[in-house]
Amino acid sequence: MNTILSYLDSDQGCRDTIDSILNAIRSDAHNAVVGTYDHLAAQLADYYDTTQSDRPFAGVPIAIKDNLCIQNELVTCGSQILSGYHSPYTATAIQKLLDAGFIPICRTNMDEFAMGSSNETSVYGPVKNPVNPTRVPGGSSGGSAAVVAANLVPAALGSDTGGSIRQPAAFCGIVGLKPTYGRVSRYGLVAFASSLDQIGPMTHTVSDAAALFSVIAGHDPSDATTIEKPVPKLTLNTEQSIQSLAGKRIGVPTALLSDSVIHPEIIQAIRNVLDQLENAGADIVDLDMQFFNEAVATYYILAPAEAASNLSRFDGVRYGYRNLQAQTMQAMMQTTREIGFGHEVKRRIMLGNYVLSSGYYDAYYGKAQIMRGELCQQYTKVFESVDAIISPTTPTTAFELGAHLDPLQMYLADIATIPVNLAGVPAISIPCGTDSQQLPIGLQITGNWFDEAGLLTVAHGIEGLLS
Ligand code: GLN
Repeated sequence: MNTILSYLDSDQGCRDTIDSILNAIRSDAHNAVVGTYDHLAAQLADYYDTTQSDRPFAGVPIAIKDNLCIQNELVTCGSQILSGYHSPYTATAIQKLLDAGFIPICRTNMDEFAMGSSNETSVYGPVKNPVNPTRVPGGSSGGSAAVVAANLVPAALGSDTGGSIRQPAAFCGIVGLKPTYGRVSRYGLVAFASSLDQIGPMTHTVSDAAALFSVIAGHDPSDATTIEKPVPKLTLNTEQSIQSLAGKRIGVPTALLSDSVIHPEIIQAIRNVLDQLENAGADIVDLDMQFFNEAVATYYILAPAEAASNLSRFDGVRYGYRNLQAQTMQAMMQTTREIGFGHEVKRRIMLGNYVLSSGYYDAYYGKAQIMRGELCQQYTKVFESVDAIISPTTPTTAFELGAHLDPLQMYLADIATIPVNLAGVPAISIPCGTDSQQLPIGLQITGNWFDEAGLLTVAHGIEGLLS
């Protein structure tokens, strides 16, 4: 397994490492990478080979989802409408990576504008799951999950609006963390649904996720939704993390252990974890949490509404693709959007504009906001009596490429991850075994607002119990 820590211990030259990864990327058959930062990566590698650096992660390669901006590099969000678009500035999270010594090496494939759960809506075509190439890797950060699972790089950044870090992490058998909303700056992350989007790490281990989290988190004057709270720097020790599980109150929403919602083999894997937690001295508390179905409906009103607004800027004038055949400005804008956006993105734009239109605003958008408030209150109440919540990350393991053609069916697959984004709490998916087809199963652990330290320690303890 290719971890950040193993790179720090390696005595191979940085340039050699970068060159061999770039070669491996060229011959990789998963379609996980849509471009490489050859020049930037080579320049940084040469620098770290010739300079004694005190940056903590000097020379460690990392993959970047194709919706994060790096100055002068392409960023296309898996969409034709951004083809050829070079970013004029660097995202705060990326700048923090660079300052810590990481080397961004490639752009990873994703669902178009991060809309999807299978990585099949990308203009570059679907990504194959490295565990089993007939399966999807999950989405929308499917490319980021696949490059880590295929051991091309030790870590990647993804973004999570309704599950897009955790669900692909679950499908590919890796770790994915969605931090608390407001923890990581969204400056330089191409917006999908601004009140839900968060950037987070995708890695092989909880320790690596914790290390990356500490690097990218923190207040940023360029993103007014980031919060001025100290960022925990964790030194995780497996023995201590396991010991700290004793006395922890772990809540389990019974609705997410029902076989009408979740596949029985996944329920079995979660129950196995709960047994081990109980043996380790944790208190398992059944939670009568409501609103999982309503959360999905709420999300699929709010997220498209925000997306419709955010994506209105792509009109052929300022970014990427422009239809040069059009005769008038109006026609240019219309046809640029018609040709440049894929089906799923257009569906969301139409849905979003519909729920925001004057006749329907109160009935849909207004109601959804009220529902979101109720959901937040429920989490506040739950965290009065538990330290963390455990559930499956997904109702099924990785499905066949092309299997989920009905969009509604695909939306319902987000049932366990979406409530977390609506409330803004942090959550992590870690591997917890495989099903009878050897496909990875993900365990989701949800923490209290800004308690990533507690969340990561519980996750690390469980990872220790399961290894
Ligand atoms: N699957 C969800 C959607 O399609 C979540 C996507 C995401 O988190 N970016 O909107």
